[in-house]
Amino acid sequence: MVVRDLYGRALRNLRISVTDRCNLRCAYCMPEEEYVWLPREELLHFEEIGRLVDVFVALGVDKVRLTGGEPLLRRDLPRLIRILAAKPGLRDLAITTNGVLLADQAVALRGAGLHRVTVSLDTLRPARFTALTRRDTHAQVLEGIAAVTRAGFTSTKLDMVVMRGVNDDELADLIEFARTVPAEVRFIEYMDVGGATRWSMDKVVGRAEMLERLERHYGTITPVAEESTAPADRYRLADGTVFGIIASTTAPFCSDCDRSRLTADGMWYLCLYAQQGTDLRGPLRAGADDEALASLIRPGWQERRDRGAEARLALRDRSPLVEVARLKQDPHLEMHTRGG
Ligand code: SAM
Repeated sequence: MVVRDLYGRALRNLRISVTDRCNLRCAYCMPEEEYVWLPREELLHFEEIGRLVDVFVALGVDKVRLTGGEPLLRRDLPRLIRILAAKPGLRDLAITTNGVLLADQAVALRGAGLHRVTVSLDTLRPARFTALTRRDTHAQVLEGIAAVTRAGFTSTKLDMVVMRGVNDDELADLIEFARTVPAEVRFIEYMDVGGATRWSMDKVVGRAEMLERLERHYGTITPVAEESTAPADRYRLADGTVFGIIASTTAPFCSDCDRSRLTADGMWYLCLYAQQGTDLRGPLRAGADDEALASLIRPGWQERRDRGAEARLALRDRSPLVEVARLKQDPHLEMHTRGG
């Protein structure tokens, strides 16, 4: 079954945030030390996530990514992965993690049936990592990345949010490091999402500039021709090394976006920038059967007209999406709640 929205985009890709908590305080995502956290009793149990995934799969979802907050903080995560990996309709089951707890968990994640791992790695320099994340766990992240390969994972990705004056002098360093893992780098343009309260356009390094800098270093770079709804445009260096750029800020991919997001407490969002979501936990806990849940999700997607990143691009004066005071009132507007 394929359910399409008003622009013909299929419901296919579900990102599930398993916790809003995080063990880093990245300047571009969670710059405050304290937050208003989701009440524990409202977090979906693994069986509840499994049930919702069944309904989503019946409506066409075939890719799930676990995220957060920091997903590895969710206790006993491999048990959820086992539940999801057993679903024949899912052809891709991945996780996005900051890597801090990966060294301990990589083998268990692989044993549970996880397909792929993406690690956020914004810098190779420990002091810079501490300045950016306000934690001194850089060595643990690097150990975590090594553990992913040792555990037998392939198709590993390293995501770097590129910020002017912060880490934009490390593009080639990251490509060189990724070769040794081995992993593929994704350079992400700094986005003005909820939570990025220190965002400004002058800190964004756009795709064109990244390519220009990398061409100066490596010589000719060729776009990889492929049909895909994946957010990254991929490029190849002369020696065959491939990397991606996610140009959400300067060249949004809304027209192909097949993603929606489920928060740890069961709110479903159709866009990273959406102001409102649909509560699925309430009906689920009130005893709704699969058809009743599907009858919330199906029309929700069919009426989808979100093109959040394009709407932001059209603005003349761009400033952070949501102010701190409003984020405190409604933590669902935070990137770390919604799951990046
Ligand atoms: N804690 C995990 C991690 O660090 O990968 C998963 C959650 S994190 C919110 C998911 C992704 O969102 C990360 O790759 C992070 O770099 C990205 N992200 C967060 N804030 C961003 C921003 N303002 N612009 C671009 N990407 C951002």
